Amino acid sequence: MKTLAEVLQDWEAVIGLEIHTELTTLETKMFCDCKLSHGDAPNTHVCPVCLGLPGALPVPNQQAIEAIVMAGLACNCDIQRRSQFYRKHYFYPDMAKNYQITQGPVAICMHGHLDLEIPTDAAAERSLDARAYVLPVRIQRIHMEEDAAKMVHVGGEEGRISLASESLIDYNRCGTPLIELVTEPDLRTPAEARLFMEKLRQIFLTLGISDCSLESGSMRCDGNVSLRRRGSSELGVKCEMKNLNSFKALHDALAYEICRQAEQLEQGLPVVQETRHWEPSQHCTVTMRVKETNDDYRFFPDPDLAPLDLSDEFIEHCRLRIPELPDTKIARYCASWGLRHREANMLAADPIWTHFFEQAAQGQSPQTVQQLAKVLLNDVAGWFKATGHSLDDGSLTPEQLVELCHLLDSHQLASNHISALLDLLVQQDGQLEELLDQAGLRQISDTAALQKIVAAVLARSSDQQRQYQMGNTKVLGYLVGQCMKESHGSGNPKLFKELLVRALGTLGAPVGTSSAE
Ligand code: ADP
Ligand code: ZN
Ligand code: MG
Repeated sequence: MKTLAEVLQDWEAVIGLEIHTELTTLETKMFCDCKLSHGDAPNTHVCPVCLGLPGALPVPNQQAIEAIVMAGLACNCDIQRRSQFYRKHYFYPDMAKNYQITQGPVAICMHGHLDLEIPTDAAAERSLDARAYVLPVRIQRIHMEEDAAKMVHVGGEEGRISLASESLIDYNRCGTPLIELVTEPDLRTPAEARLFMEKLRQIFLTLGISDCSLESGSMRCDGNVSLRRRGSSELGVKCEMKNLNSFKALHDALAYEICRQAEQLEQGLPVVQETRHWEPSQHCTVTMRVKETNDDYRFFPDPDLAPLDLSDEFIEHCRLRIPELPDTKIARYCASWGLRHREANMLAADPIWTHFFEQAAQGQSPQTVQQLAKVLLNDVAGWFKATGHSLDDGSLTPEQLVELCHLLDSHQLASNHISALLDLLVQQDGQLEELLDQAGLRQISDTAALQKIVAAVLARSSDQQRQYQMGNTKVLGYLVGQCMKESHGSGNPKLFKELLVRALGTLGAPVGTSSAE
């Protein structure tokens, strides 16, 4: 198979996403007052409505409607004053009523858009010389529906139904409020699709309407993709991909599928419209089922639910509940503190990080805030990754981050000792300053003390001295390393370098070009 870059020279990929998000932060289900449960014993939050017992009547959850209106406003959609719930029928044990309540041709949120910033590294997927660009992505709609029950297939491959010996079912999830966002086919590369999903996740997290976990399935994405010859404006036949439960899976499945369709088309074979399943272990997609149409679903308005009428006051109430959105936040971080877009974007990605960072940054100079961002996103984030700690487990407070930066700034702490200091901080509480001394991590910036070490190192490095004087300044790095070793890692490397340069400079004129060597 050709590579993605080769394929995209001749073909243009057309991608549209369908993104389901469970409103996990609500208290109750969509059409009944069963509690939304996470990890409770199976089938303990059920009632006649969500089990679909005869005669039970659904009542829409107002908080869920508020959440979807907020989502719609944040995605620049037109909020429809009147919409209708529909029944989508299918026969499968995960939905006891044998139909799912969803919405008809008019969804609560219609015709939105998001502007997607594509940084240079992601832009390269369009073409190698592409620079960063902004891609407007139209959103067809966001509609309200209910989730199905959770099924667990036991004894099969990778937990799938094929070859399973038995299937277990948990109706706790059944009836969970779910919003589905459908984009227009405006995306052109897997990198763009991934960035769209990331941006939407940032927005929904900021709105506080979901925990947006791809891993646990509270946010799920289906990727639709087709190909057309470069220069053509007709749409090709698409395939829909399921099981994209990480950003990497979304990217890799689309990339694979684009290459598979290109191979098919280049051999003169048609692309069959179907739903395919991404197999991460085999790194390919396989046919799941051929596409159903709306006729197959016997799609019609739910007679149990009156049309939904939203007042201007209600929509205004939702608008007022929207907090500062990531784009505004990023622009503010860049303008008021001089952060780079990439850093600001990472900090705005998750409300927990945003809150922590803003607390630390409060009242600090732009220069200090830049350092706070750098230390948090590089050193501290690296330490989290290595140790399994996280920002919300309280292992580091915003005040401690400020103190950490102060220690770095005043050359009392070397950046390569940050993780050792953090290790100590979680083992025993205390002032960072005290822990620094206790662990012997305080950086020595006392010139006289360092000077002694420099002299000792130079005394046993006559070879390197000679090389330096012949113009090989690379040995300086080696000599700094020796000094660091001699000081057991506690010397200030910048000072060592200065002292070494000074000492080597006064050791006599360079030997010059000696042919004797
Ligand atoms: P369906 O009728 O199969 O449900 P829709 O028109 O509702 O298709 O679109 C579903 C998703 O597929 C949307 O995200 C849309 O942008 C995308 N899509 C539609 N047509 C194409 C195509 N030819 N190629 C790629 N994506 C497409
Ligand atoms: Zn219920
Ligand atoms: Mg559709």
